[in-house]
Amino acid sequence: MTGSIVPSAEVCPVCGESRGFAYDGVLYGTNELRHICPWCIADGSAHAKFGVEFTDTAAIGGYGEWEEVPKDIVEEIAFRTPGFASWQQERWYTHCGDAALFLGPMGKEELEQIGPEAIEVIREESGQEGADWEHYFSTLHRKFTTTAYLFRCGHCGQLGGYSDSH
Ligand SMILES: [Zn+2]
Ligand SMILES: [Zn+2]
Repeated sequence: MTGSIVPSAEVCPVCGESRGFAYDGVLYGTNELRHICPWCIADGSAHAKFGVEFTDTAAIGGYGEWEEVPKDIVEEIAFRTPGFASWQQERWYTHCGDAALFLGPMGKEELEQIGPEAIEVIREESGQEGADWEHYFSTLHRKFTTTAYLFRCGHCGQLGGYSDSH
């Protein structure tokens, strides 16, 4: 669970059941639906019933920043995978012809726990170096102001992602 799924006692509008968890991320296609359960996301019924998308299809591959992936992979992410909320525009990392696994929103602490490779991926994407980067890095927080979004390729393990702020 990466933060977009939260404990919930509410009834899911798709299956009509209260299953203990609900989606709390971005929803495209409606402003009305709340508390969709993760099972109705994963089995495609939320998309089939209400046409909702959880990530903008063009964001998968980062609007051309990363690899382009086949349509069925784009649909798997957009229609059947919980999205996440970014400060600006969500971008979903792609590698080895596939959509990578979202590891969650990260701050300095979380990136340090994962290790130098994770820090370098975010630094490189930010385009910053030296003291500028050190300052920027020190402001990264998983919940506030400036946040990194990290992914891992399910095939080769390559980390990727980006950071943004509000
Ligand atoms: Zn449901
Ligand atoms: Zn890969």
